[in-house]
Amino acid sequence: MSKELVFGHKSPDTDAISCAIEYAYLANKLGDDVEAVALGTPNDETKFVLDYFNVDAPRVITNAKPEVDSVVLVDHNEAKQSVDDLADVTVTRVIDHHKIDFQSAQPLYYRAEPVGCCSTIIYKMFLENDVVIPREIAGLMLSSIISDTLLLKSPTTTDEERQAVPVLAKLAGIDDYETYGIEMLKAGTNVAARSAEDILQGDAKTYEMGGKNLRIGQVNTVDLEDVLSRKDELEAEMKTIMAADGYDMFLLLATNVLTSDSVMLVLGDPINAIEEAYNAKVENNLVNLPGVVSRKKQVIPPLQAVLG
Ligand code: MN
Ligand code: MN
Repeated sequence: MSKELVFGHKSPDTDAISCAIEYAYLANKLGDDVEAVALGTPNDETKFVLDYFNVDAPRVITNAKPEVDSVVLVDHNEAKQSVDDLADVTVTRVIDHHKIDFQSAQPLYYRAEPVGCCSTIIYKMFLENDVVIPREIAGLMLSSIISDTLLLKSPTTTDEERQAVPVLAKLAGIDDYETYGIEMLKAGTNVAARSAEDILQGDAKTYEMGGKNLRIGQVNTVDLEDVLSRKDELEAEMKTIMAADGYDMFLLLATNVLTSDSVMLVLGDPINAIEEAYNAKVENNLVNLPGVVSRKKQVIPPLQAVLG
């Protein structure tokens, strides 16, 4: 088989980067020729993880075709979140845990499971193939699960994650995964050191709903005031991005990872769709969303239902 590249989504999070490394390791063990790459540089949380387990960050690409004819997608499936020239290469596999918005002219291996983390699926693939999980790969899997499920507290968490975490912690040499997890989440929440643009775009994804073009970002913090105190600056940057990239709405979900509550900053139209979706008042461009931590499960579906 000719060489393939594997990568997670743009604005990569810990799961996107880790899945690519995990998958490449597994595929190479099974005799394929696969290189893990990324569609962006690691964020602060991911840097903490890579440093902790002494793993190099994958090199960053924007186009795949100059190097390979076929690619593997992990932790995403939508073309908008993928490599710029996705249409010019063959996708041979998708391994993902998001809603499916994927089209293919070719038959392919497509593995989608409604679990809390894509690394959970790859963990199962190691078990299914009887491939030993080395310490650093276990560490990446553990970290991804902690990141995607906010220490198993997100409603996206499944029993598969709850079962995998203690096993992976042991393989990774982590005695107390909660302490490690809080340290890791905190490393990714240094809001004060980040530019407004990075806070907004660092984890943002684009969605189309009912003919509207939405940009939805999420920022984790251990103190919501770190985000709210920069509201004016964030709003000005949101307006700039919306005008430049043609978004109808920009939503920034600020999530307190210690209390599992969020506040959302919202600009654009239609604002009443926000109020209807979350059954809450938008005041001063802000909506309180207690108990909301998951963009995928708690933010997108209600809005999709309203906007159609
Ligand atoms: Mn992800
Ligand atoms: Mn994920």
